[in-house]
Amino acid sequence: MSTFQWIISLVYVLAASCFVAGLHLMNNPATARRGNQVSVAGMITAIAATLAIIIQGDVITITGWIVLIAGALIGGAAGLYSARTVQMTAMPQLVSMFNAVGGGAAALVGIHDYMRAGVSVSAPVSFPGARLVNGLLALIAVGFGAYLIASPSAALLAVVVVAALIFGVSMVMPIGGADMPVVISLLNAFTGTAVAMAGFVIGNWAMIIAGALVGASGGILTKLMADAMNRSIRNIIVGGFGTGDNVAAVAGPGGDVKSIQADDAAIQLAYASKVIIVPGYGLAAAQAQHEVAALAEVLEAHGIEVSYAIHPVAGRMPGHMNVLLAEANVPYPLLKEMDEINPEFARADVALVIGANDVTNPAARRPGTAISGMPILDVDQAKSIIVIKRSMGHGYAGIDNELYVDPKTSMYFADAKKALSEMTSAVKTLVG
Ligand code: NDP
Repeated sequence: MSTFQWIISLVYVLAASCFVAGLHLMNNPATARRGNQVSVAGMITAIAATLAIIIQGDVITITGWIVLIAGALIGGAAGLYSARTVQMTAMPQLVSMFNAVGGGAAALVGIHDYMRAGVSVSAPVSFPGARLVNGLLALIAVGFGAYLIASPSAALLAVVVVAALIFGVSMVMPIGGADMPVVISLLNAFTGTAVAMAGFVIGNWAMIIAGALVGASGGILTKLMADAMNRSIRNIIVGGFGTGDNVAAVAGPGGDVKSIQADDAAIQLAYASKVIIVPGYGLAAAQAQHEVAALAEVLEAHGIEVSYAIHPVAGRMPGHMNVLLAEANVPYPLLKEMDEINPEFARADVALVIGANDVTNPAARRPGTAISGMPILDVDQAKSIIVIKRSMGHGYAGIDNELYVDPKTSMYFADAKKALSEMTSAVKTLVG
């Protein structure tokens, strides 16, 4: 190994260490921002090392440099712009798009290396994969992929790529109900693994380590989310998910809806001794995190015990509620995970549900609904329940919520931000 190669290897190890340290710092909301910065530093170091290899090897033509620099500038600017301007609620779409770009890049690296090994492209390959079932597509992609290793052929390579692309789309298309978070996380893990494999192909340590980290952490997250959602990963991979149990739906209870205004809600809160706040997607959509923190402060100042119930898939991305509430400086110890908070609902005088729907729906306890089997927050165990949302509209899973017709429930129909501000003023008036 030359001195140059030795130095580059050391720099790659340094970059990889930054990824590991960055990931570790992301364990805690207090250090997560620093974790991001450390990871970015690692990525810049890895890119610099790769550029040094390219320059030293003198393998790129002037045209190549122009394409490389233009691509990096356009791609970097587009990435920076979308990351800075994306609404918190559109984050899953952005993450999915970045994943698709990462997976696509890994595939291109693999294809390029395959072509470089002496295979020339012949006539275009047409593949009627769109009409085949998922299992067949997966079989074609994997089976032909294995065959390619033994017998190189550009036509077969194209078939594998097309089959994999169609499989990617057709695998995700039927997903519905409340399973989407698990699938997003699973695809993220696949992207990391693909990048790691591409790293093996071109012998790039940084790609191997970074890809392996994304693949492993994504895999762990997928397992945790699947457990939290009571879904098995095997079912997810073979596509048997997203539709709830395959048994007839059992009708849930019907009933009248009781509607209240800020003053009534404030009276319930002011005379409570224990309040559990249940945030959901609607809190994020209304950007009402500062308003909920302000209400909680007023209640606590009045001696009321306040805590927040965090469901693992509340909102639209893993950790959505934690990030949102951290932005409003809600003390981290007040945030309680589902298993920890569920036994406490029975002792709560008021459960204040803000823009949460599916994660509170008792229909999950019955078979045959889109969320059957998903563990929920036991909001219906509280002595009284106040739900803030704008209408009787559905949540992500698209089904009625039986909690809203519970005799203990009062509905406060309003935008979460407006409702919380009005409630805070009303509580202040009451408690002086
Ligand atoms: P839901 O999507 O079930 O419900 C959100 C509710 O918020 C809606 O019913 C809506 O009712 C209300 N809402 C919307 N805007 C406002 C507003 N401005 N003010 C007040 N309320 C508002 O949310 P949950 O958090 O309960 O559940 C999350 C769902 O998303 C689950 O089904 C989960 O599986 C899925 N999911 C989660 C992901 C994750 O990683 N966390 C990723 C992808 C999907 P209305 O219109 O009447 O106001």
